[in-house]
Order: sequence, then C-alpha cells, then structure tokens
Amino acid sequence: MSALSLTHKILKDHLVEPAALPAPGELIKIKIDEAFTQDATGTMCMLQLEAMGVSKVKPLSVNFVDHSMLQSGFRNPDDHQYLRTVAAKLGIIFSPPGTGICHFTNMENFVKPGMTGVGADSHTVNAGGCSAIFMGAGGYDVALAMATGMYTMPMPKVTRVNLTGKLPKNCMGMDVILKMLEIVSVKGGKGIIFEYAGPGVKTLSLTERATITNMGAEMGATTSIFPSDENTKAFLESRGRGGDYKAMSADEGASYDAEININLSEIEPLIAIYPSPGNVEKVKDHAGTKIHQVCIGSCTNSSFENIATFAETLKGKRVKVDTLLYPGSRSVAMQLADAGYIKMMFASGVRIMENGCGACIGQGGSPPSEGITLRTFNRNFPKRSGTDDAKCHLISPLVAAASALTGEITVPEAKDIAINVVPPVIDTDSFIMPDKADKSEGIVRGPNIMALPEFSPLPDVVKGEVLLKLGDNISTDDIQPAGVYLPLRSNVKEYAMQATYRLVDGTFAERAVAHRDAGGEGFIIGAENYGQGSSREHAALCPRWLGIRAVIVKSFARIHVANLVNFGIVPMTFKNPADYDKIKQGDTVSFDAKDLAGDLFLEVNGQKFPLERAFDLDVIPTLKLGGALAQFKATFKG
Ligand code: SF4
Repeated sequence: MSALSLTHKILKDHLVEPAALPAPGELIKIKIDEAFTQDATGTMCMLQLEAMGVSKVKPLSVNFVDHSMLQSGFRNPDDHQYLRTVAAKLGIIFSPPGTGICHFTNMENFVKPGMTGVGADSHTVNAGGCSAIFMGAGGYDVALAMATGMYTMPMPKVTRVNLTGKLPKNCMGMDVILKMLEIVSVKGGKGIIFEYAGPGVKTLSLTERATITNMGAEMGATTSIFPSDENTKAFLESRGRGGDYKAMSADEGASYDAEININLSEIEPLIAIYPSPGNVEKVKDHAGTKIHQVCIGSCTNSSFENIATFAETLKGKRVKVDTLLYPGSRSVAMQLADAGYIKMMFASGVRIMENGCGACIGQGGSPPSEGITLRTFNRNFPKRSGTDDAKCHLISPLVAAASALTGEITVPEAKDIAINVVPPVIDTDSFIMPDKADKSEGIVRGPNIMALPEFSPLPDVVKGEVLLKLGDNISTDDIQPAGVYLPLRSNVKEYAMQATYRLVDGTFAERAVAHRDAGGEGFIIGAENYGQGSSREHAALCPRWLGIRAVIVKSFARIHVANLVNFGIVPMTFKNPADYDKIKQGDTVSFDAKDLAGDLFLEVNGQKFPLERAFDLDVIPTLKLGGALAQFKATFKG
C-alpha cells in the first residue's frame, strides 16, 4: 500500500462511501466521532434535530454555551435553558455558561488524536492542533451528523506545510498563522486540508498548534492538522487523559497536492490590519500607532500558556489602555489563579471577564468610537466589535502585552519569559452529562424559542428582483450581524427583520418583505468570496425567510454554500465574472429552475447571462423541495 498523509489515514479510517478515497472534489461520506454546537448556532440546530424526529443522538455530542451569555433580559437565559433541557432529552452533554469557549473546552476534554468531528462553528478546526480532523459546518449539517453519525463533504486536497527552525523569542503560534495568511490569503485555503509537518513541529506546544489550526478558518480551509507527539501526550496527561493519546503522523514518503515551506526562525511579530485577517503586515511597520484597547482571549489565544505569558510580560506594571481578558475555560481561569496570575493581572489594571467569547462576538467589551483595538482574536471584520467606526487589528499575546504597557503598537522584546507552570485544574464537574441530567422538567421553551419556519418548494421559474447588489468579501457578519442582535437567534422573524443586511442597507428587510408578500422571489448579487467568516446558518435562514431564493456571485466561501442549500436558496456563480457589472440592484430578473442539472441562465431585460452551479448535483432534490429539512423528512427512515 502506498504511503499516506496523516489526513488520508484518518479519512480512510472513517470512510463510509465510496469504497476508496476518491480524487479531490468528489464527495465522501465519513463516520463522525463527535458533533457539537455553541449557543449562537445551537438553538437552531436543536430545533432542526427535533423537527427531524430524532430521539437520541448517535456520536458523542455536546452543546456548549459560550457566545451569548449576557443575561440582560429573558432571551439568552431562555436559550440556555432550552439547550440544557433538549440536551438531556437527546443524550447530549451540556456545557453551561462560564465553563469555557467551545473550541478550547472541547480540546481540553473531548478531542483525541485520530478523531473526526463537526461543529456548528467555523473555528471547530481548532481541534486539528490535537491531531484530529474537525470541521466547521452549518447547524443543519451538524444536526444531521448528530442524527446519523455521518458527514458528507468533498474530498479535500492536502497541502503539506513543512516547518523548520524555531520561533524567535518575541513570536508565538499567532505569528505562524498570520504568516500562513500572508502566503495563502483569506480564500486560498478553499477545499484544502493543511497538514503541518517537519522538524519545527516539535518546537510548538499543543496550544500554539491549536492557535495555528484555529485560524485555518480564516484561510477558508476545510481544516488543518498537526501530527501528535510528546507535546500532545503531555497536554493530554496534564488533563488526566493520558489514555487518549495515540501516535499519529504521515507515512514516510507520503505525497501531497502541494507544499509550503516555513522557516520559523525567520518569522517576525506580525499584525493583521483592519478590516481583514488577510491584511498581514509587520508589527514594526505600525510601531508607535496609538491604541485605545487591548483584548486577550478568544478561542484563538486563551490557553494558560498564552495568558501566563501575557501576565509575565506585564509583571504587575499598570496597563495604559483598557485591557480585557477572556480566559478560554474555567479550568484555565483556575490554573491562572493557582499560579498567582489573576492577582498579578488585577494589579496591572486588567479587567478579568467571563470565560467565553465576549468581545470577540460583540457581546460587551466594545472599543470607543473611532478607537483602535488590538485583539489576540481571529477576526477583525468591520463592526464585529460592536463599534461601527472602530478598527480592530489582530496580534499575538506578546504584542498585546507590550502594547498594553505603552498604549501604542509595540514590538515585544525578544527575551526569555519563564512562566510559573502549575498543574491544570480539571473541571469536568461543570458538564451536565445526559445520564445524570434531571429530565423531569421536559424540554423547556421560553417565549424566545420560535418553531422553525417551513419553506415552500422551488418554483420552476424563479422570477423577481435583485434586492441587493454587493461587493467583494461580504462576510456572514455583514449578512446577519451578531453583537446586540444575537439574543434574537432563536426567533427567525425578529432576527431577520431587525438584523439581516441591516449593516449594509438599513431598509433591506422591509423592502424584501414587501417584495416577498407581493409574490416576488428575491435575488442577491455579490462579487468574490461571498459568505466568508463564521458558519452562521442564520445568514442563509433569515434571508430565506425574507424571500431570497437565489444568490449569484463571482465566488463563495465553503460553509455558506452548504447553508444556502440547506435553506433552499440556490447558490450560483457567474460563468463570465464580467457579467456582474451588467446587472443593477432593482433589475427584474428570472431563471429557469426546471432542470438544475442543465445549463443555467439569469435573464435580465431580455439578456441571458450564463451561470455555473455552486452546488453539487446531489443536492438538487434538496433545493427543489425547498431545503434540507423537507428533504430529510421526505427520505430519512429511522
Ligand atoms: Fe467564540 Fe470568537 Fe472563537 Fe467564535 S471566534 S468561537 S465568537 S471566541
């Protein structure tokens, strides 16, 4: 048998169909070892699971609450209660608010080398740091994985990232992934699994590896993976999970679709400049720029090691700007306390926030108007921070600490930083395991939990208006903002009316509803990399509720296409990208959807523009029936 990459080994071990791994791009069905949700996507996922009639999930499944924890009204606590009680009924582990950020907590407690997983969040790929193949997916696809234990995806290409050398003392894992973003770009990872290898791997701790795999999502990659070794073993042993360790690496001489070489010794401190994680520059080129805020944490950089390094750099000196810390988990927070770092950071003037996503998803911690915020997070899209005209740049915890002390962007000194390592505090008691959960109250649905809307089948001729024409790199945050709107996530009507495209066009929802109620089908025209960013399925569900039937763009981000299909919106691309310029917002348009497998055209004012399918042929029945739920109900037996 020929030598295999680590990716191919794991996929082969989990392959259900076809009999052998096919060429890249062809569909594969794999067995899934774990499926999870977080609260922003989880309520929809659970409502879908209920609508499917599922009584018990198949793989290890977890509902994390980490995104929307502000309890300033009934909505978030209602959602948490629903997630807890539905989890007990369906056999899902519940991770209550305050336990930790889903990806970090997942890695601490559940991920094992060699596993496969899907999560209803794009940074599910974080688990690749622990030698597992985990992917972000839309809520419906995660619900389906929970129901069946299977996941269908295109066979990825595999790129070997050969790491040599050792990072300079003022660089961290964050600088490695920023280097990758500089090389690959925000859309260069589409359809690819990045497999890290080479002698540089052993110089990176498991949590630094997870920082690198976490932000593979920003390259649009399917996922990323590191081999396992002594560092992996040490992490698992420290969590009392030494028995979960398994040596996993590529075979000698394995072949890859492409290769990237990075000499870690040559990396310098890097910064992703607003408004894209792909705008990577050297920190030294921005040194001296005044800042207004520093945030450390998020699923990208919230390990004990990250935060202890940050605290040791501060060494009790006062920070000069508003500085917020979000620990990755309760376990990390307790370990920091045991090591004396919580007291040290209080003394420095750092604000210790909750163990969750917080400022990363615009749930508090917003910077001032026109402010500059430096964040160790993974995204810096416009308005995500909750302050429309603020600018967010992404940096490592070392740059965060050096800059917090000076109040301006600062290159950290290259020096040894010894951290006080104490044993982690194992926090498995925070989880509510389904076999121990109180099931007597049944599934509790507060008034914020609205039943899923049902959508009509696709008409043979889709006729309507271009309701919105958009430019490049429209993110799911642009389509369906989170922040203050996030508590509406379980109420599709309200979330759609208040938030959909609100940030790009304040009148969109009202125009769309009027058009829909007059019998028209809505069209969106977009340019490159449409739907980048989070896996938020509301960015498809809410537009569909508002009457959108087709999205036609120059190119799409991966997860968003799946979400559009799942809610019965037809995703297509221009065969000739220049046709984009010939269509205006407000144009009356139509397309013949009788034969979605045939040639497709958009008709505008008597002119026909050829289109390409952005969907696979096998989802045509789903699109015809009006979405995945209708398709599941029509076909699933047992
Ligand atoms: Fe939470 Fe931010 Fe990570 Fe998303 S990217 S899981 S919002 S910390």
